[in-house]
Amino acid sequence: MAAALDVKIEKVQHSRLANTTLENIPFGRVFTDHMFEADYIDGVWTNVVIRPYQALQFDPSLAALHYGQSIFEGVKAYKSNAGEVHIFRPQDNFRRFNISAARMCMPEVPEAIFMEGMRLLIDMDRDWVPAMADHSLYIRPFMFATDPVIGVKPSDNYKFMILLSPTGPYYSTPMKIYVEETYTRAAPGGVGFAKNAGNYAASMLATQKAKEAGYDQVLWTDAFEHKYLQEVGTMNVFFVVGNKIVTPELTEGTILEGVTRDSAITVLKEMGMEVQETKITIDELIASQKQGLLHEVFGTGTAATISKIKELRYKDYSMHFDTDKAGVAKELKDRLTAIRYATAPDTHHWLFKV
Ligand SMILES: *Cc1c(COP(=O)(O)O)cnc(C)c1O
Repeated sequence: MAAALDVKIEKVQHSRLANTTLENIPFGRVFTDHMFEADYIDGVWTNVVIRPYQALQFDPSLAALHYGQSIFEGVKAYKSNAGEVHIFRPQDNFRRFNISAARMCMPEVPEAIFMEGMRLLIDMDRDWVPAMADHSLYIRPFMFATDPVIGVKPSDNYKFMILLSPTGPYYSTPMKIYVEETYTRAAPGGVGFAKNAGNYAASMLATQKAKEAGYDQVLWTDAFEHKYLQEVGTMNVFFVVGNKIVTPELTEGTILEGVTRDSAITVLKEMGMEVQETKITIDELIASQKQGLLHEVFGTGTAATISKIKELRYKDYSMHFDTDKAGVAKELKDRLTAIRYATAPDTHHWLFKV
């Protein structure tokens, strides 16, 4: 368990909740009354505080703005029918956060700050966790370099924060995906396995071009041959081929190790399916599709849980999928939803009660 945390608490005078409708809030635009903050100064974590959500003030020389030492996490909390609030697998996000930190030359965040900070903040703002079906509280831990210095070096000082954002259902209509052959998200030795801000900036142009061509996202391929499949947009990708499920393996460090990916693999196995983590080329995938074996394609991530894919386009060849018949994706989503809202037993101890 997380150790006790010495945190200063400054509450809002008046909650904004009375003037906020929690129903159908679009993703990432509304924040709760409070935020969590801790500073890393001279090798020590200090200034641990929960205070009203507000603007920050910095010098324009703030290191994070210039050289991108900035990482984040995405976690969700759910309200059960009984009104209990559970965070889904936050320990896994904590571990991944410090893996990202190490890659970006940033200090490790202590478990007490990450876990107990998150728990205390959600406890204070628990009325902001929507009680409606398919609604949740999105949790955004992040850390960035705060040296007011534009010399290129790892910053000496950092700020760690947690924001909370109530969010409505993620109506994901089945996606059309363009298999990317020009741009690269991640290469071996790079930063693809880290949840750092720069990965997102680097992906935007490819995604924008795919959108201009009528697609929703790209399917990233390897940096050398653009043949080995990696991820779909900012989600991990799964293929239902024959009676097996395949997903790209993590060994090269070019794929973000999704918590939803791991949850999906576990639940798919419970559904009696065989799951293979392996290298997958676009040519193999097309061969399977031509033999009538490629039944479903879907992405996994915290925001949407499971996103069905209705079209994959590679060069001049388009593969179409009847997503109304995507039974694996549907059952997987239903099972994960039941665990998150505590209507199914939590046999893997994935829920962290607030
Ligand atoms: C965050 C992220 C994912 C999904 O991870 P989850 O833990 O399942 O939310 C997948 N790919 C990328 C690139 C990501 O940044």
